[in-house]
Amino acid sequence: MNREEMIARVEQRGAEPWDVVVIGGGATGAGVAVDAATRGFSVLLLEREDFAKGTSSRSTKLVHGGVRYLEQGNISLVMEALKERGLLLQNAPHLVHDLPFVVPNYSWWETPFYGIGMKVYDVLAGKYGFGKSRILSKEETLERLPTLKQEGLRGGVVYHDGQFDDARLLIDLIKTAVDHGATVANYMPVVELTKDDEGFVNGVVAQDSETGRKFSVQARVVVNATGIFTDEIRRMDDAQAKTMVQPSQGIHLVLDGSFLRANSAIMVPHTSDGRVLFAIPWHEHTVVGTTDTPIDAPSYEPLPFEQEIEFVLDTAGEYLSHKPTRADVLSVYVGIRPLVKAAGSDSSKTSALSRDHTIHIDQSGLLTIVGGKWTTYRHMAEDTMNHAITLGKLDDKPCVTKDLKIHGYKKGMDPHGDLWVYGSDAEKIQALAQESPELAQQMNPQLPQIAAEVVWAAREEMARTVEDVLARRTRALFLNAHSAVAMAPEAARLLARELGKDDAWANAQVAQFTELAAQYMLEKVNPGKPPEEKKD
Ligand SMILES: Cc1cc2nc3c(=O)[nH]c(=O)nc-3n(C[C@H](O)[C@H](O)[C@H](O)COP(=O)(O)OP(=O)(O)OC[C@H]3O[C@@H](n4cnc5c(N)ncnc54)[C@H](O)[C@@H]3O)c2cc1C
Repeated sequence: MNREEMIARVEQRGAEPWDVVVIGGGATGAGVAVDAATRGFSVLLLEREDFAKGTSSRSTKLVHGGVRYLEQGNISLVMEALKERGLLLQNAPHLVHDLPFVVPNYSWWETPFYGIGMKVYDVLAGKYGFGKSRILSKEETLERLPTLKQEGLRGGVVYHDGQFDDARLLIDLIKTAVDHGATVANYMPVVELTKDDEGFVNGVVAQDSETGRKFSVQARVVVNATGIFTDEIRRMDDAQAKTMVQPSQGIHLVLDGSFLRANSAIMVPHTSDGRVLFAIPWHEHTVVGTTDTPIDAPSYEPLPFEQEIEFVLDTAGEYLSHKPTRADVLSVYVGIRPLVKAAGSDSSKTSALSRDHTIHIDQSGLLTIVGGKWTTYRHMAEDTMNHAITLGKLDDKPCVTKDLKIHGYKKGMDPHGDLWVYGSDAEKIQALAQESPELAQQMNPQLPQIAAEVVWAAREEMARTVEDVLARRTRALFLNAHSAVAMAPEAARLLARELGKDDAWANAQVAQFTELAAQYMLEKVNPGKPPEEKKD
């Protein structure tokens, strides 16, 4: 994946239309690019920032059916997501693994209640099932979760779901699309939609953020897969377009691995204000979250509200024997859900808004795909391309992604081993590390990343900035913001060498990254109050 080569491909194509132009390089857009390319269509994907810069790097990292949606009675969403969970495990076994979740029970009624609920969850998964759920005694619960608060504990229920590294899967999806002939570019915002004489969208104008150059490209179908920015693109088409997306923010706090010391996660099905909270082991750390706070407008780096931080710390403290405090937080990350407003729905209660996806075709022929979940990206892409084929009068070629191996596919990776997230690419990075002792060096004692990963990210994964490398190609910023800042000068030096940049560029990169990282260290919070959520 080389950015210059990708841009050269766009130039060479000139006025010849692409079958599909995808706006947005998150899970949704990458999924569409994979689906289109593997059906044999010509496809161009344009991303305004970096791949996964938006919501798709900020999830809870679950490949799941959604126990909460089961409770809400959205059986079809749960079944669809459970099937997709199974397909993801099958097609990306290097990145998705089975994780046991324990619902700790402190009241007499919880064990039978959740025991039955989880059996239903197992049944709905059918042949795509993960491990079977079962009721645990108090001793078995503590064996699985030694750091759980013991006072009043009666037992628990264990069920199984999937876990993954979201930004890494995104990069592998982009690579899969490229492996099958797609052209992709990051830092290439779409700034305009073009229309033919009859007012149908027939292409886009994109602008290279690095050079300022504009490219006008033609398309048979333009797919708007911009998540929380959906309405921005729709208003390029029709300034009066009604708002479709209600943004809702969710925060996660990342703590040291010692808070869980387990290979199982905790699932709290009902927090004090009726939400679900997870504490999950992830990359040898503990991720706790999340919240569901309606906000007014989308942004790339939303700030956590003080109330959200307190809520997550307090709720985690009710279940963990060692109550976490602000000082224990190694990183905080905030993501925004692109929830679809249904006509007449109450958007002030975002936790009740549907997680189903929506396909919308404007009168101009702009095809928008929005909503859904990371877990269901493949199904969303298939649905989108089925509509695109009709809309763009493309050849009716079948979807092949159900059994498509995702780039990096490799079975048997140890999720605690070195470089495991890279799957089959891991050995290439190891080979790179063997080229010089400099590249084999671990960049910070708190995190496992080695210098070769920076070089790999620049050469093979289109990383253009220190943030790309430390936030998404590796997850350093999300795991430990202080350590990531300590890694920044070395990452900048290596990246500058790879990209042919000078010391001034490297210094500016370090300064920019350091400023961003302050936000992940709880140094900046949203000074306002979150809008009140209506209670049932
Ligand atoms: C807190 C939280 C936790 C979650 N946890 C889970 C979970 O555990 N499991 C799960 O399955 N789902 C989860 N989700 C949902 C999941 O993360 C989202 O559904 C998914 O990431 C949305 O992907 P997307 O591609 O639609 O949006 P995004 O990832 O935001 O991608 C949209 C992209 O469009 C780009 N863009 C915008 N404007 C332009 C333009 N003009 N030109 C070019 N590009 C543009 C943006 O830069 C962005 O990269 C969670 C969501 C949140 C917020």
